[in-house]
Amino acid sequence: MIRQAKGKTPRRPPPKKPSNSQKDPVGVYCRVRPLGEEDEECCIEVISNTTIQLHAPDGLKANRNGEFKETQYSFKKVFGIKTSQMELFEDVAKPLVEDLIHCKNGLLFTYGVTGSGKTYTMTGSPGQGGLLPRSLDMIFNSISPYQAKRYVFKPDDKNGMEVQNQVDALLDRQKRDSQTSVPKTPTARRFDPEFADMISPEEACKAGGVDEDSSYSVFVSYIEIYNNYIYDLLEETPFDPIKPKPPQSKILREDQNHNMYVAGCTEVEVKSTEEAFEVFWRGQKKRRIANTQLNRESSRSHSVFIIKLAQAPLDADGDNVLQDKSQVNVSQLCLVDLAGSERTSRTRAEGSRLREAGNINQSLMTLRTCIEVLRENQMCGTNKMVPYRDSKVTHLFKNYFDGEGKVRMVVCVNPKADDYEETLLVMRFAEMTQEVEVARPVDRPICGFAAGRRQRNQAFKEELTRRLEERGGPLDGDSPTVLNQLLQSFPPLPPCEISGPNDDVTLPRLIEALEKRHKFRQMMVEEYNKTANMLKSVLQEQDSNLLSKENFLQEQRGRLGEKDKMIQNQKNEIDRLEKKSKMLEYKIDILQKTTNIYEEDKRSLQQELESREQRLQREMSEKRRMESRMQGIVTDAKLKWEKECERRVNAKQLEMQNKLWVKDEKLKQLKAIVTEGKSENRQPQRPSREKDKVPAKRSASPSPVPSPYNGSQSSLSSLEPIYYFSQTIRPDPHFPRPGSVSVASCISEWEQGVPHSRRQGSQSPPDNRKRAQGLPDSLRRRRGRCWAREVPVQPAEVDLEETGHWTGPPVRPLHRRSHSAGGERWVDHKPNTNVDLDTVLQPNIPNAIKVNAPNEKALSKCDKYVLTHQEVASDGEIQTKLIKGEVFKTRGGGQSVQFTDIETLKQENPVAASRKRRSSESGPDGEPVEGSWTDVETRCSVAVEMRAGSNLGPGYQHHGYPKRRKP
Ligand code: ADP
Ligand code: MG
Repeated sequence: MIRQAKGKTPRRPPPKKPSNSQKDPVGVYCRVRPLGEEDEECCIEVISNTTIQLHAPDGLKANRNGEFKETQYSFKKVFGIKTSQMELFEDVAKPLVEDLIHCKNGLLFTYGVTGSGKTYTMTGSPGQGGLLPRSLDMIFNSISPYQAKRYVFKPDDKNGMEVQNQVDALLDRQKRDSQTSVPKTPTARRFDPEFADMISPEEACKAGGVDEDSSYSVFVSYIEIYNNYIYDLLEETPFDPIKPKPPQSKILREDQNHNMYVAGCTEVEVKSTEEAFEVFWRGQKKRRIANTQLNRESSRSHSVFIIKLAQAPLDADGDNVLQDKSQVNVSQLCLVDLAGSERTSRTRAEGSRLREAGNINQSLMTLRTCIEVLRENQMCGTNKMVPYRDSKVTHLFKNYFDGEGKVRMVVCVNPKADDYEETLLVMRFAEMTQEVEVARPVDRPICGFAAGRRQRNQAFKEELTRRLEERGGPLDGDSPTVLNQLLQSFPPLPPCEISGPNDDVTLPRLIEALEKRHKFRQMMVEEYNKTANMLKSVLQEQDSNLLSKENFLQEQRGRLGEKDKMIQNQKNEIDRLEKKSKMLEYKIDILQKTTNIYEEDKRSLQQELESREQRLQREMSEKRRMESRMQGIVTDAKLKWEKECERRVNAKQLEMQNKLWVKDEKLKQLKAIVTEGKSENRQPQRPSREKDKVPAKRSASPSPVPSPYNGSQSSLSSLEPIYYFSQTIRPDPHFPRPGSVSVASCISEWEQGVPHSRRQGSQSPPDNRKRAQGLPDSLRRRRGRCWAREVPVQPAEVDLEETGHWTGPPVRPLHRRSHSAGGERWVDHKPNTNVDLDTVLQPNIPNAIKVNAPNEKALSKCDKYVLTHQEVASDGEIQTKLIKGEVFKTRGGGQSVQFTDIETLKQENPVAASRKRRSSESGPDGEPVEGSWTDVETRCSVAVEMRAGSNLGPGYQHHGYPKRRKP
């Protein structure tokens, strides 16, 4: 429906969008025409009234290896070969015509291959009218009594409709009458006999619900789209039989409501089915002529027959159409007979025909594409552009798909096997089309100012006639029969010709006749007066009736006004109350919000309180913990400091004792020197060459203590001060475990210490000495077992606190066993693993207690200790070390060994050694050396000298060895 825009609007309104969300799918119907020849192969079977089945023809199946299966297609309805045109119309077109009358647009098209019955369905044949004539017939059957006079509605050539005033319309009518000799009341027979009896009278149908207070007018236009050009089939062009002009194509335009229309297209107002037929056939004829003249193929063009129905309300009198353009509603029904859908190849067209066919195919292709895109957009929610503009057909009907309206399609199929492949394509397109939805048009009832006025006028007329009849019959001056009757009842005048002066007959006869007439006239005047009076009285009555009605109406209006006022008051009151309630609601809202805020505050405060309490609790417990920890720390610190004090006191004591001891030692050494000085007078000084006698393979450490080989203490004078260090094994877990220091590590430590001390010089020896002091016995006992190692070392290298291992206080200086009490007694410790060396250089320790494992008992009895330790040197020779020490009794009642010396004997392979020895025995000087090797004293003195010169030669090694000792 196209509702007229009010006046001129400079601005274009936004694109028309469907005003309702309800959508209907495109109604697709299928019509199967009967076979042309009965013995023809058929490929379609109607299964039900909604389904058909396609069978591939046998030949095709054989060719394509059964590629084609039997497929079923469903439609809104399937019409078989026996379906009559009427049945089809009832289902397909009737609802569209009803919609048209109710201001809704409709589009109906036939689709199919050439010869499938599209034209037959749309147009029909004599006696078998198609959808188009039936639609026209139904329209006129429905609106005939309410049609407006010709030219009251006038198309504005912009797809709109104007309303002309009565005078203009009358003038237009007179003009038309003078131009054409068309009689006012046409009949079907008058037109082309071909169209006679298209629709039998019993098939006539009518739409219900026609608005009687509206005036209607039907306009038709008929266009053809060929080769994507639009031609107006109703255009009146002077025909030149000599040089016929080719028809001019028309263009498509969009109106201000974005509806498409063919610009300059003839719209013919028709007042009856017959007239409409006449116009339609005029168009058809023109089409046929053009096709013949231009050598066109009719099956390749689309024909569009547009029925426009203009309707507008009547004015207040109910006689004329309301002069208001905006109140005019125009709805249209397009009936489209599409070109054959078959592919170009099938038509075997050539040249320009082929091009045209391509274009036509193109337009159908565009239609298919549009439908596909629409379907995709609707089903997948996409927003792809629908290519309506790609062809005239789709462009013209664009509004049906993106606006609103009812769209229906009749798919025509010819069941013959030859058409199978084309029919298959048609079916697919038809199925797809069914999935497209179009917005359902909404009802827009026309609201005129004279609702029921036409009916009331009619009723009044009828009432008047009836009353007149009651009072002596109707007196209708216009009616020729009444006038004639009256004239006839007048006494005829006798002949008035007087024959002579004596003619006494004529005049009296005339007088009599005139008198009669006069009487009759008087009677008539009386009658007239009577009738006039009666009429007057009727009118007066009517008037008074009217008056009373008017009064009544007035009264009612007054009451209505009062009621209105009351309603207004109540409305005001309601408004006020609503406002108040809104206010209150608003207040409640605010209060609610405030409450919420307060509650929120309360909650947050509570939370804060809780968290603070928790924090307080935590802090308290933290404080308590801290307190207890601090107490612990204080106690610890106290203990530590106590210990530290004790340790320092002890260290001081030890230092002092050590100093004392060193002094003692020095004194003793001095004493020994003094004593040696005396004995030197008896023993001559060893000749210096004796040093050369010491074999290169043998070396002795500078012995600070007398060698066990001679038992003398001859080299004490060359000794540097002896420092002690000891490792105490404590049960305290924070201190290093005793096992972590092995003999070897102690020895290597000591070895490394020698050069270190040399590098460092003797920095702060007293300190280191201090640190190296042992613990007093009492303390050592308390702390458990300890290891003691006593070696002559440089003081700097044993920074026990620095290494972290020797943090314990040093053992107290040991006190020596008295040597005067019956000579030295040795513990000769030889582990079982030792190899028995086939050498003359065997240590000979008389009076020794031989043990193969440290033996406390043996230690308690002796005052000297020697460990024979063997190892393989890097050159593969066996190295025997004699690690010597002195045994001291500790205050705690245990023993401790103070290592004082290491003698290293490097022993070659006994075979090689014996060979060497033999060769050395027969040396160049031929001097025997055996005697000198037995001389321990000589050896020791050489060793002492070497030590004194700080020149540690090869094979001369100095080792400390910690000895396990029980407290
Ligand atoms: P189209 O327009 O599709 O090319 P037509 O409507 O011209 O096909 O039909 C071709 C022929 O088939 C016509 O002679 C027509 O009378 C006939 N025909 C088509 N459909 C039917 C039908 N349903 N019943 C009888 N005849 C039909
Ligand atoms: Mg046709």
